[in-house]
Amino acid sequence: LNPVPTDIEISRAQKPKPVDQLAEEIGLLPEELEAYGRNKAKVRLSLLDRLNSQPDGKYVLVAGITPTPLGEGKSTVTIGLVQALTAHLKLNSFACLRQPSQGPTFGVKGGAAGGGYAQVIPMEEFNLHLTGDIHAITAANNLVAAAIDARMLHEATQSDKALFNRLVPSLNGVRKFSPIQISRLQRLGINKTDPASLTPHEVSSFVRLDLDPSKITWHRVVDTNDRFLRKITVGQATTEKGQIRETGFDIAVASEIMAILALADSLKDMKDRLARMVVGTSRSGEPVTAEDLGVSGALAVLMKDAIKPTLMQTLEGTPVFVHAGPFANIAHGNSSVLADKLALKLVRKDGYVVTEAGFGADIGMEKFFNIKCRASGLRPNVVVLVATVRALKMHGGGPNVSAGAPLPKEYIDENLSLVASGCRSNLKKQIQIAHLFGVPVVVALNAFRTDTQAEIDLVCQIARECGASDAVPCQHWSQGGRGSLQLAKAVKEAASRPANFQFLYNTEMPILEKIRTIAQKVYGAEDIELSPEARSKIDYYNQQGYGSLPICMAKTHLSLSHMPDKKGAPTGFVLPIRDVRASIGAGFIYPLVGTMSTMPGLPTRPCFYDIDLDPVTEEISGLF
Ligand code: ADP
Repeated sequence: LNPVPTDIEISRAQKPKPVDQLAEEIGLLPEELEAYGRNKAKVRLSLLDRLNSQPDGKYVLVAGITPTPLGEGKSTVTIGLVQALTAHLKLNSFACLRQPSQGPTFGVKGGAAGGGYAQVIPMEEFNLHLTGDIHAITAANNLVAAAIDARMLHEATQSDKALFNRLVPSLNGVRKFSPIQISRLQRLGINKTDPASLTPHEVSSFVRLDLDPSKITWHRVVDTNDRFLRKITVGQATTEKGQIRETGFDIAVASEIMAILALADSLKDMKDRLARMVVGTSRSGEPVTAEDLGVSGALAVLMKDAIKPTLMQTLEGTPVFVHAGPFANIAHGNSSVLADKLALKLVRKDGYVVTEAGFGADIGMEKFFNIKCRASGLRPNVVVLVATVRALKMHGGGPNVSAGAPLPKEYIDENLSLVASGCRSNLKKQIQIAHLFGVPVVVALNAFRTDTQAEIDLVCQIARECGASDAVPCQHWSQGGRGSLQLAKAVKEAASRPANFQFLYNTEMPILEKIRTIAQKVYGAEDIELSPEARSKIDYYNQQGYGSLPICMAKTHLSLSHMPDKKGAPTGFVLPIRDVRASIGAGFIYPLVGTMSTMPGLPTRPCFYDIDLDPVTEEISGLF
């Protein structure tokens, strides 16, 4: 249709097939499905055992050039591509997408179900509660937070003996350690299983985690852009006996538990990672974990359903897994390992799994390879690099683009010289980054109404000159899968060639060298510069034995450098590392390049102004 209707109108006009019918079509057994209503279902992990001996399909990653603040259409390209592969080329395919946070849905950005005729439906279910995974993460995260403050209160107000009697209660006159307590004793070097045999000193070190209130790194979370919770004071009621401290809230998807959900490859692996999460340090400088707090088993219970990916469908009835959505600022910003693994089995040998990495390729794709592929053992066959004429014009020297403001004239009229210089800077560099990992690149030019044929041809020509296996325009947004047929054929061709995947760095390299390698080879920096705080954190992580974890850079996505207004492919800059933090359960070290907000705010006119419900028809309006 011309003009293309709104996303919610398109979504509502298409009736999804019942999820059990979709499941049957893709080869799931009824007992492998847990339906949540009519349109979505969780898929049991037992499927992996059943299909264990089956070869995997082809693995395609969708990444992008450095975006404008408007987004360049990675989600729509992902969905358009699977629609073209399955509904038009009749090849099995699966899209694996992240579950969006409700923060942006009601805030600035809107939803993330794709757009136009390349969407996951029903888009309101996708964008809102889905199957409750983010609520489960919130509950688990906040249980840890409650455990931390309650434990500090109890330790501050009770003697060693009283604490011991409560932590190891006597049942019918017999005291026994729980398995989690035995494991804590072993970590303390106390190899005793009889509570009566502990010396007073051992009792004291067992019962006192002695958390340093100023070194607690765990925050509470909520899935709302609630900026007033960025810094709060807790414990002000008299019942908390003066245990007052400053802390804060993050958006739920920034919880380490979300990053764990995305990287775990089994229930056991998730449980182990949850237990290893470090929540702070003791006054003597030892890390304190979720397992030390005794909460890790309960966390696994809260997360036992969230670990199963949710099955949905595209507008053209092709299958989609929606699972996990770690905050791309401080975590790795990719959907889950388990969804990709299940999908690769379901599509079988000649099928395609298309998964999306957040932000530009310098961030999302680099982390996909170095963190997610390392955790999963999976190797991608092709990278689809999404570009738009508008972002290329910005990189070529066009004026700034901002959400909510009208596009400047340069972006509406043909301007071949801006397009050419954007291609020769940012697009070329992002293609080279993918080649560092030995994976072929297909450039997908997401075409907008204002693009001219000459601009489209120029992008495709320069992309090929810069080493892309192929470069094609796509019209999925206005035409659905039919508009991505050329892309689907180009991906099929590139996936038939041998890929030579390699990691960028060996994890055994020192932390500093890993950071330098990413800064120089991926971002194009001259060198890195560490603050004294960053240096001392690296020393501490080395001492604690965390030195061989991969690196998850927390850098702006709006530039290849740390300076959001430096477009194109900046060179000659020194990347400042302000601080270094660690997500030990998720399994990465994250250096902070500049300040990263982990709790977005609401603008003056948030998206929620337009969102409404018709009480008679129950139809939702205003979501996009
Ligand atoms: P990303 O995943 O890169 O952030 P999205 O796929 O979510 O980007 O797209 C960002 C926004 O732009 C969405 O609202 C989407 O509907 C819109 N959009 C994407 N491609 C087009 C296009 N070709 N024409 C018009 N709007 C588009």
